[in-house]
Amino acid sequence: MRQPMVAGNWKMNGSRKANEGLLAEVREALSSPVEAEVVVCPPYVYLPQVAGLVDGSAVRLGAQDVSDQDSGAYTGEVSGEMLKDVGCRYVIVGHSERRGLYAEDDAFTARKFAAARRHGLKPILCVGELLEERESGVTEQVVARQLDAVMDLEGVESLKDAVVAYEPVWAIGTGKTATPGQAQAVHAFIRARVAERDAGVAEGLRILYGGSVKADNAQELFSQPDIDGGLIGGASLKAADFMAICRAAVPAD
Ligand code: PEP
Repeated sequence: MRQPMVAGNWKMNGSRKANEGLLAEVREALSSPVEAEVVVCPPYVYLPQVAGLVDGSAVRLGAQDVSDQDSGAYTGEVSGEMLKDVGCRYVIVGHSERRGLYAEDDAFTARKFAAARRHGLKPILCVGELLEERESGVTEQVVARQLDAVMDLEGVESLKDAVVAYEPVWAIGTGKTATPGQAQAVHAFIRARVAERDAGVAEGLRILYGGSVKADNAQELFSQPDIDGGLIGGASLKAADFMAICRAAVPAD
């Protein structure tokens, strides 16, 4: 049985004060535990602060990105070793905002995935199609290409300690959520694609859905057989909404 996961991607939001308030509310809410593994991914500069704020709680720390390099003359970059050093367990790689706004392609994303693993971090690999790709019927080809880039470089076994997040780009921050049926179809495709290489890895792989998940649509999405939780942007910045989403994530029968 796969333990569900709900990860909050704060994107470029937060302040020391806001983070304190948010995590105090989350911790309070977690005095009534949830079945999902709960992860928060603040901006780099707040990782040490948030590591302290979640210490002793069930909340895990993740980063939003990682360098493909390990150390040296890479101004502005942050390595996997540094993320591990400040307490991260997870790191998002290949978010569509990195792919789209910063021209990070499949090969580069795969190298970041590899860098995360070299330092004992669990990557949350984001895949997903643009609106025009969905409309022209190539969603599966796009997702397969993104997934294969990682499996070709690191091997299917590397997904044992990773999480995949299906995030249709047209649904991120737009208020347009994929229907549970649309999301389930792609999640099943992802699991089948991995199963072509290793059925056991595919069965154990947690596949999160991301894209305008809210407290009122989470339950229906998460009840689909191949949806193991969510990667949450906007709604992760409000404790009540985030916790309602976390409570909606329960293991499939
Ligand atoms: C995201 O940033 O990964 C995301 C899914 O954002 P939102 O929930 O705001 O659509």
